[in-house]
Amino acid sequence: MAKLLMGKEVTAALNERIKSRVNELKAKNVFPKLAVLRVGAREDDLSYERSLIKRCDAVGIEVKPVFLPEDVTQAELVGSVRELNEDITVHGVLIFRPLPKHLDDEEVRKTLHTRKDIDGITDGSLAGVYSGANLGYPPCTAEACIEILNHYGVEIEGKKCVVVGRSLVIGKPVSMMLLGKNATVTMCHSRTRDLAGICRDADILIAAIGKAGFIKAEHLSRGQTVIDVGINVDENGKLTGDVKFDDAENLVEAVTPVPGGVGTVTTSVLASHVAEAAFRASMPK
Ligand code: NAP
Repeated sequence: MAKLLMGKEVTAALNERIKSRVNELKAKNVFPKLAVLRVGAREDDLSYERSLIKRCDAVGIEVKPVFLPEDVTQAELVGSVRELNEDITVHGVLIFRPLPKHLDDEEVRKTLHTRKDIDGITDGSLAGVYSGANLGYPPCTAEACIEILNHYGVEIEGKKCVVVGRSLVIGKPVSMMLLGKNATVTMCHSRTRDLAGICRDADILIAAIGKAGFIKAEHLSRGQTVIDVGINVDENGKLTGDVKFDDAENLVEAVTPVPGGVGTVTTSVLASHVAEAAFRASMPK
């Protein structure tokens, strides 16, 4: 039976580190603050916002909610982002996306200062992921995968890592982060040939596809560590990953469950970025 890599264990350890960092900052009169910018009231945004507020509260980070109506104009939205850029009491800004269709996401992304981009959406943050420079922050889900591997002591250096999915939020950044840790990385996508063979050969397999149970026994082999990033709803309305859990559990060395795996860690990673942003802002220029 595979070992379960539980997100809550990673989160507990990470939260302790964030709390002590936040306490050190507060002792120096730096009070980490996250602004959450929400347009409209989509149920999934509201639920993410509630969990963010709870998580930040638990580690001593203040949250400043900024709500704009569904019919906000582009100019008003960009104006709000500019105000948050200039607000020296705010260290990180999370913009709920996707934005309503009448708004230009690209302009909003380009307006946000990279130093406040704790969710890794700006070009500056992505450049940081690629160059390894301390520019902005990696996308939180990609970093959550690395946190899980680190927490459970899974060696990355020299290992064959296969990432299925090449999105800008997960597949590409997590591949670069693994490469930065000296893994040999193969990136796969919908046009990859012999996907099952490539996946079977991996020491570490990361699935970020968005298709329930897509990765099955034929993609898996003994000794692997499998990180399942997928969040899908199956035909019975049940939350499920990209990996067929029963197949993985019977075959591989270790696997993250869905729910209870990567998703659980993402919010804590975001909180850790806010603490880091507050620290960087407090350093002499
Ligand atoms: P995405 O932008 O839709 O990207 C999916 C990727 O999977 C694409 O690169 C696509 O390849 C690839 N793909 C699709 N079908 C494939 C196939 N048959 N064989 C091989 N590759 C295939 O999705 P995403 O935003 O990266 O999200 C991926 C999953 O992670 C989703 O289930 C999402 O809900 C979940 N997610 C989880 C968290 C979390 O906190 N755990 C956060 C965000 C997202 P092409 O590029 O060739 O089309």
